[in-house]
Amino acid sequence: MVLLFFGPPGSGKGTQSKLITEWLHIPVISTGEIFRDEVAARTPLGRKAHDIMARGGLISDDIVNGMLEKRLSVGDISEGFLLDGYPRTIPQAIFIDSLLAKAGLPEPAVLHLDVPRQTIINRVSGRRFCPLCKTTYNIYTQPPLDPGVCDTDGMTLETREDDREEVVRERLVQYDKLTGPLIGYYETRDYLRLDGDRPPEVVAREVAEQLESRLIRVRNRRAS
Ligand code: AMP
Repeated sequence: MVLLFFGPPGSGKGTQSKLITEWLHIPVISTGEIFRDEVAARTPLGRKAHDIMARGGLISDDIVNGMLEKRLSVGDISEGFLLDGYPRTIPQAIFIDSLLAKAGLPEPAVLHLDVPRQTIINRVSGRRFCPLCKTTYNIYTQPPLDPGVCDTDGMTLETREDDREEVVRERLVQYDKLTGPLIGYYETRDYLRLDGDRPPEVVAREVAEQLESRLIRVRNRRAS
């Protein structure tokens, strides 16, 4: 099963992706995470991406598409995969369609997490992450057991540079302009709009219920 997750910053894509991957045992490919790793490693791509990300802009389609194609060629995707934060533009959606067709993979199921603007601003301002295991926390709604410290490995939690309020506002402008039109692109296909303004476990339960029937179809197809 190929799953595409999209939604504005702070809509819970990362949290939901983590829950789904534990359930379905398919890899999550987060383009934002790949870019953050490149930035941290100060690679040439990371240096280019850093300024764009810090301003709240989007990396160019050519770069993202090339990077995704390379990641999908690694070979752990035979059972499917989940894309977190990709596609974010119509050209990216056209590109992933062509990659899936070339690889003989099925049509993607598109999960759209919809969240009101004020919830996004509140959520993102409380967001912290572990630089080692990448677990995300929220100091208001999902705090770590010890303030400021990762439950899993004890690392000091950090704030993403692009989670500053003025950057989030710019990311939302980019989202409306470039990512919003994806709704029209996918609406008539296997598209599911989810109300993301609910506790993560409630959203996850709805995702599981909705995906269960698709999963059964895939397993039956394989068995026959
Ligand atoms: P995310 O972690 O998904 O919020 O992504 C963080 C940042 O990485 C975004 O604000 C963009 O600057 C960049 N980025 C991630 N995925 C994409 C994409 N599919 N297209 C363009 N830029 C991306």
